[in-house]
Amino acid sequence: MTASFDDGDVTGFGELGLRDELLKALTGLGYEEPTPIQREAIPPMLEGRDLLGQAATGTGKTAAFALPLLQRLPAPGGDNPSALVLVPTRELAVQVSEAIHRYGRDLGVRVLPIYGGQPIGRQLRSLEFGVDVVVATPGRALDHLGRGTLRLHDLHVVVLDEADEMLDMGFAEDIEAILAATPEDRQTVLFSATMPPRIDGLASSHLTDPVRIQIGREPTPAGEAPLVRQMAYVVPRAHKPAALGRVLDVEAPGAAIVFCRTRDEVDQLTETLNGRGYRAEALHGGMGQEQRDRVMARLRNGTADLLVATDVAARGLDVEHLTHVVNYDVPSAPESYVHRIGRVGRAGREGVAITLAEPREHRMLKTIERVTKQRIIIEKVPSVADLRARRMELTRAKLHEILVAEDGTERFRAIVESLGDEFDPMEIALAAVKFAHEATAVGENDEEEIPDVTLRQPRDRDDRQGQGGGPNPNRRVSVRDADGRGRGRETGGRRAPTGGMTRLFVGAGRAAGIRPQDLVGAITGESSLTGRDVGAIEIADRFALVEVPDGAVDEVIDTLRRTTLKGRRPVVRRERPRTD
Ligand code: AMP
Repeated sequence: MTASFDDGDVTGFGELGLRDELLKALTGLGYEEPTPIQREAIPPMLEGRDLLGQAATGTGKTAAFALPLLQRLPAPGGDNPSALVLVPTRELAVQVSEAIHRYGRDLGVRVLPIYGGQPIGRQLRSLEFGVDVVVATPGRALDHLGRGTLRLHDLHVVVLDEADEMLDMGFAEDIEAILAATPEDRQTVLFSATMPPRIDGLASSHLTDPVRIQIGREPTPAGEAPLVRQMAYVVPRAHKPAALGRVLDVEAPGAAIVFCRTRDEVDQLTETLNGRGYRAEALHGGMGQEQRDRVMARLRNGTADLLVATDVAARGLDVEHLTHVVNYDVPSAPESYVHRIGRVGRAGREGVAITLAEPREHRMLKTIERVTKQRIIIEKVPSVADLRARRMELTRAKLHEILVAEDGTERFRAIVESLGDEFDPMEIALAAVKFAHEATAVGENDEEEIPDVTLRQPRDRDDRQGQGGGPNPNRRVSVRDADGRGRGRETGGRRAPTGGMTRLFVGAGRAAGIRPQDLVGAITGESSLTGRDVGAIEIADRFALVEVPDGAVDEVIDTLRRTTLKGRRPVVRRERPRTD
C-alpha cells in the first residue's frame, strides 16, 4: 500500500489560508481534505471577492461559503448581524445554521436560523439578544425586516444559497426587497445548482465582478471511466446504515471498499456493519501507519471483507480482486466518483459501483452521469420481503451444497432417528431448516421497511440547463374565499388534476396564513422533489390542495406529516373524490 499522509497539514485545508480555530473544527469533524468547490471558492471569498458558484447539494458548498464567511466576521458580540444566508427551506435553514455553528464553535459565533413555521416569539427573543449570522428563508426574513427586528445595515456578507430553488418557489421579490436593505459594499455570494438566465440576471444586478466557479464542468476524457455496473439508491439520511446493510446482504460482495466523507462516519459505519455480521475494517487518516498496514493485511488475506475508508486514506491503495465500490455518500465531484470506481472492473473483471444518495443529492448524480457519459441506474432498496427471499435462497443453497457433498451429515443420524419415532421425516426436515436458517439470518425480524423515494428522472433540472428558470410552468395558484368561491385566476369549479399528478388535501389554508410558497417549501425541503415538480396549488380558507407527481405521493404525504406548517401539523391525505 502506498497511501501517504501529510502530517504537517492534517486537513489539507491549511493551505487555503483558514485560521487555526476553523482548522481545528474541521479536524474535529473528521474532514480530511477540501472538496473541489471548497478549494476554488475559499481563497477568493477570503479576499472579499463576490462569488457565483454552480454547485449542487453534496459538493460541500455549505462549508465553501461558511468557512470564509466565519473567518471574515468582525469580532462576535455586535448589536446587529454581520452575515445573512438566505435559503429556500426551513430544513436547509436548520442544516446550514448547524453547520456554521459547528465550524465556528471556537470563534464564539452566534448563529440563528429563522424560518416560517417556528413561533416568531422565540426568534424575536434571540434576535434581540444579539446574533452574528442569520440563516433565513426569504419570507420570514422579510417579515422580521418589516417589524424592525432584523436590522441588516451592518451586514458584511450575504449568501444566496440554492438561489434557483428560491426563485422557483416565488421568492424573487422577497430577495430583492431584502438585498435593498443591505449595505452597498457588502460581499455577495450566490450558489445555485443550475444557471438559468434568471440566475444570471440576479447575479448581474447584485454581484460585483464575481469569481465564477462551476463544479462538474469538464467532461472526463473518453475511456477514463471504467465500464462497471453502476447503480444508486436514493435513501433518506436516517435510513442509510440500514439500507447499506440490506444492499450488501443482497449483493454479497467478495471484497468491497465503502467510501465515507469523514473519519467519524468511517468509524460509525464500521461498527454498524460489524454488528450486522460483516467483517469490516476502518481506514482513515487519523490512524498510524502500522495500524493501516494491519488493516490492509486483513483485507488481502481475506480475514476482512469490507474496507470502510475516506478518500485520503484509500488514495494510492491497490487492492486486488475488489468486486464492489460503495459510495456511502455521493462524491463531492465527478472526478472523485470516477477515481473511486476505477478501483473495480480492472483488467476485464466485472465490477459494481453502488452509490447511496440522499433525496436532495440526486442532482449531483445527474451531474456525474453527464460528465462521465454513463448511466447510473436508480434501484429500489431491497424490501424486507426481498431480503427474506434472498436469505431463504442462501439457506437453500447451503443445504443443497451439504446434500450434494454428503458432507459430515452422518453423525446427526441418531438425532433424526430418535425423532423419527414421534414425527415424520418432512416435519423433522422443516424443523432442522428453521433452526439452520434462524441461526444465520439473525435480526431478520428487526428489519424495518425503508421508505421508497421515487425520483422523476425525466424532469430533472440538470437536463434543462439554460432553458429558463421559474416555477413549474404548469403551476396554477388560486386562493379561495371562505365560502369556497374562487378569487384567483381560477374561478371555475375544481378541475381534475393535471395528467400524471395527484391532488393532496392539506387541512390548513388561508386562515392559518398558508401561502403557496409555504407548501412548496415544506414539500421540497425534505423530499426529492424540486419546486418545478410541484403542480397546481389551491388555497382555500380552511384547507389547501396541491398537486404532486403520482410517483411521489407517498413520499410527499410522509414528508408533510413530519413537518409543521405555520406552527401546526395539519391533516394531509389524498384528495377524496367529490361526491357533489
Ligand atoms: P453540502 O454539499 O454543503 O450539503 O455538504 C455535503 C456533506 O459533505 C455534508 O454532510 C458535509 O458535512 C460534508 N462535507 C463538506 N465538506 C467536506 C469535506 N471537506 N470533507 C468531508 N466531508 C465534507
